[in-house]
Amino acid sequence: MLTYEQARQKVIEKLTEKKGPRVTEQVRVGEALGFVLAQVVKTDREYPPFNRATRDGYAVFAADAQAGAALKCTGEIKAGDRVTKELWAETCVQIMTGAAVPSGTDAVVMIEHTKRDGDLVRFERDAVSGQNFVQRGSEARAGQTLLTPGMRLGYAELALAAQVGAAELKCAQKPRVAILSTGDEIVPVDSLPGRFQIRNSNSVSLAAQVRLAGGKPILLGNAMDREDDLQSKIRRGLQEDLLVLSGGVSMGKYDLVEKVLKEMETEFYFDAVAIRPGKPAVFGKCGEKFVFGLPGNPVSTMVTFELFVAPALDLLAGAEARELPVVAARLGEALHEKPGVTHFLPAHMGGQGAGREVKVLKWQGSGDVSALSRANCFVIVPAALENLGVGDPVEVMVRRDMF
Ligand code: AMP
Ligand code: MG
Repeated sequence: MLTYEQARQKVIEKLTEKKGPRVTEQVRVGEALGFVLAQVVKTDREYPPFNRATRDGYAVFAADAQAGAALKCTGEIKAGDRVTKELWAETCVQIMTGAAVPSGTDAVVMIEHTKRDGDLVRFERDAVSGQNFVQRGSEARAGQTLLTPGMRLGYAELALAAQVGAAELKCAQKPRVAILSTGDEIVPVDSLPGRFQIRNSNSVSLAAQVRLAGGKPILLGNAMDREDDLQSKIRRGLQEDLLVLSGGVSMGKYDLVEKVLKEMETEFYFDAVAIRPGKPAVFGKCGEKFVFGLPGNPVSTMVTFELFVAPALDLLAGAEARELPVVAARLGEALHEKPGVTHFLPAHMGGQGAGREVKVLKWQGSGDVSALSRANCFVIVPAALENLGVGDPVEVMVRRDMF
């Protein structure tokens, strides 16, 4: 059986083989968060486009503004003001952050280091040439490439695109992910379940995880544990970029997902992973499309999505697979787990840096969504370990939506 690292690697390897050009769309820069860029973005002019003051103070010739000197202030320049005049020797101009310094200026002295007396400004420290303004063109040259295809657009990348006037961006279309739950007991979330029925919460969590991972969820509802229903809904799902099923992959008599996928000539790359929860997860390719069968217990579904489906979405979108969001912490309570599989235990982490502490929550196993709603991460207990003590270092996989 594969370890979770090997299984993840398998997903990355298979999707990398298939990585090709993506269908693109034009997206307004303000709406492009989480898209993957499919064009080059260049500067339209030099940045900054003028010598820009970075402090409120006085524009000077540094040689004039030494400690004890007093210079006549001849005016003021606000951000946005058109600056045409040159600075005269033995004078200074009041200037605001973001304003263009007059030509000749080689320093801006912070207002905090001056005293004003009518027209006269007295300097308390030696001005240093080059201080407190940014030279035209020093951040980027005109025509310089700033963003390239395959880059994921976060808030900083969007701000940069906006700054250089890229109001619309050519982006890879978000991968369309068909979500199909399975189970005779599953009913829609807006219906009243009978005593032995369960609302379809997995479709909701999967859609949220698809969005977080940069995909577009296509909800196909639920298939009954019957081969004909499974087969026809799987066929529908295979029309999208990726199909994710929940439930029906364990060893029970009515766990038919793998059987049906096999009959549809799916090539399987794994059909179990040495993890808990989530051991029965399957991954394969049916025709041209990749398929995941995730176990139906809600926490298993969530964990296996993060481990295996999220990197597939990165690659389908034309980006690199992101690293698992794993950080180091110290255990706040001792742990005893069965060795042989890697455990992912719902936990709560608090504190900063070396003081970061994590405590595993009490839970009733992989169906316990209420425990997970109090968790902001999972403690990863390696397969070889049985006992961990208070203060022991552990790896923690954070919930993407909580950090
Ligand atoms: P399965 O993987 O089909 O054996 O399902 C395991 C457990 O997860 C069962 O208790 C199911 O009722 C529950 N389950 C399966 N699918 C869903 C779903 N879509 N939403 C919520 N719970 C589910
Ligand atoms: Mg089932």
